[in-house]
Amino acid sequence: MKTEQKIWIALAAAGCVGALVAMIAVATSMPTGIPIVAALIICASIIGNLVVLFKHADRLQKIASALSVGSQVRMTAAYPPDSLLKEIGTASQRFMDETNEKVKTLQNENTDISLQLQLTQRRKNSIEAILNSIRDAVMVTDDRDRIILANAAAETLFGFEFDPLQPLVTEEAVSSDELVAAISKCRTSKTAHVRHELTFEKDEQPITYDTVLSCVEDDKGNVLQVVAVLHDITREKEISQMKNDFVSHVSHELKTPLASINAYAEMLVDGEAEDAETVQQFCGVIQGQAQRLSRLIEDILNISRIESGLVKVSKKTHSLALVIRDSVEMITSYAQEKSITVHSPASILYDQVTIDRDMISQVVINLLSNAVKYTPANGEITVRTDLNEIEGQITVMITDTGVGIPAEDVDHVFDKFYRVKANNKYAKGTGLGLNLVKQIVETVHGGSVFVTSTTGEGSTFGFVLPLLKETATQTV
Ligand code: ADP
Repeated sequence: MKTEQKIWIALAAAGCVGALVAMIAVATSMPTGIPIVAALIICASIIGNLVVLFKHADRLQKIASALSVGSQVRMTAAYPPDSLLKEIGTASQRFMDETNEKVKTLQNENTDISLQLQLTQRRKNSIEAILNSIRDAVMVTDDRDRIILANAAAETLFGFEFDPLQPLVTEEAVSSDELVAAISKCRTSKTAHVRHELTFEKDEQPITYDTVLSCVEDDKGNVLQVVAVLHDITREKEISQMKNDFVSHVSHELKTPLASINAYAEMLVDGEAEDAETVQQFCGVIQGQAQRLSRLIEDILNISRIESGLVKVSKKTHSLALVIRDSVEMITSYAQEKSITVHSPASILYDQVTIDRDMISQVVINLLSNAVKYTPANGEITVRTDLNEIEGQITVMITDTGVGIPAEDVDHVFDKFYRVKANNKYAKGTGLGLNLVKQIVETVHGGSVFVTSTTGEGSTFGFVLPLLKETATQTV
């Protein structure tokens, strides 16, 4: 038994004795001091009991609040100690179970959150990789025109480094005032999509971008972001310019002989050719211009067939020296008219190339006929071949002692319709012959063309062909 309980029993007993003494004193009319002593004993006994009870109740209260599991532990002074302990045990167990359950739930939630974090990180990496793999420059700005996203192409184009933690102000990061103003205008005017053609300087070259700006709005219609996508259209613009130039060149070139044919035909119809000789002369001009027209059309068609990849190519193994010999034979009479001597090489033993024979013949004939055209009478033309088995290629050079080409024109003679003004007086032409040579050698046979020239001394035109092995009929 505990001390407190002993004291309680003692005080209770004292209280009983006190009460008994008081009753006897009253009954036997004892002196008045005795009932007072008895009353004091009773009070002490009651206070003792209360103290013990309060102490007990306080301790139980502490246990109940420590458990704090909502268990309805009712603490009363009269609660029997065994069932109290049992209740505490049950409550503690329940508390432990519930705590374990909560820990488990938290652990699961933690696993879920870390999985979601991993997934989000992976998605972010994947979006970044996709954005950076796009060749177009992509940039996103916020409602204060700060760059909150930019891919590698945008960084290279504008020369800034994107840091998501320190968003740059568009005005400071982007050198183009036009783009900065367009982004700001798109945001304030809330335009869904707007398209601009912007030109920037890159490595001192103008680059044109098709720029599309799109607003990203929230469900209340407030503009949150502006997405800018810049697509490089420099090449497309060049091609479109080339097409326009080509069309205007073709129509101009076709007009000239047609106008001539028309004029001479009209004169014939009007009877302006008085004698047979004049009629003959007019008809000669018409025939010449008609031939020029047909050559022109033929060249244009050949070039565009090769460029568009629609020409049928029949490649077989041939000796290049033999192809050259046949072409030289075809040009000899023309050269003889101007007393020009053509020196051609002896056949080389292993000069086998896989070529479309007709096409390469046309190349050699074009170069030889130019050499004759631009070489004054009594000149010389020399054809040479150089076989390089180590490099696996053969080089053909056609050198003339002609008028030569001014330095500023040399780089352009292979361009379509390019004619050297200084040489126009020596021969008529279309300015397409050398371009056709280039297309056949480079596009169809994977070779290369070259030219060197000195005004007044002569020129060397040539081409290099790879010594191909395969024998095939193909379409390029
Ligand atoms: P064209 O029909 O005018 O001859 P080409 O494309 O064959 O067209 O040649 C382009 C220009 O290059 C010619 O107009 C001519 O001025 C120049 N050219 C070509 N070959 C020679 C050459 N062997 N010597 C000097 N100039 C040449």
